Amino acid sequence: MTRTKYSDRFCGYCHKDTRMEMVGAMEGIQGKIWFRCTRCHHTSLLEVSESTDPKANKLDPENATLYNPLQCFKIGEAIFHNEWNDVGKVLSKIKTSDGNQAIIVSFTKLGQRRLIENIKPETPVEIENTIGVVLHE
Ligand SMILES: [Zn+2]
Repeated sequence: MTRTKYSDRFCGYCHKDTRMEMVGAMEGIQGKIWFRCTRCHHTSLLEVSESTDPKANKLDPENATLYNPLQCFKIGEAIFHNEWNDVGKVLSKIKTSDGNQAIIVSFTKLGQRRLIENIKPETPVEIENTIGVVLHE
């Protein structure tokens, strides 16, 4: 098999699509491979689909879940943000300093964004101020 070990992927350090070199799989974790950015030389564990064709990774807004801060999302889930008109994939989940749950989403156009999830309706949270916070200021 003569598959190139270089592909264009989103680098979380450069915050853009860069040429990444495949450096190896992580033991025990399927569907994730270490890639080294040829630009900043940072290594990231990135998700890969069965197909290495980047077009097959395209997120389809039709099949994405509409983002709603009351809802709980799964890692790898495709979500659509109505206001931003952008589709993204849930990369990870975090707990914010104020005790809320949040998801890190890699949006197609906007890049990485942090979104609040699983808000309890009785929790007094100012949604307007907490959604759409840029992860790296
Ligand atoms: Zn980079």
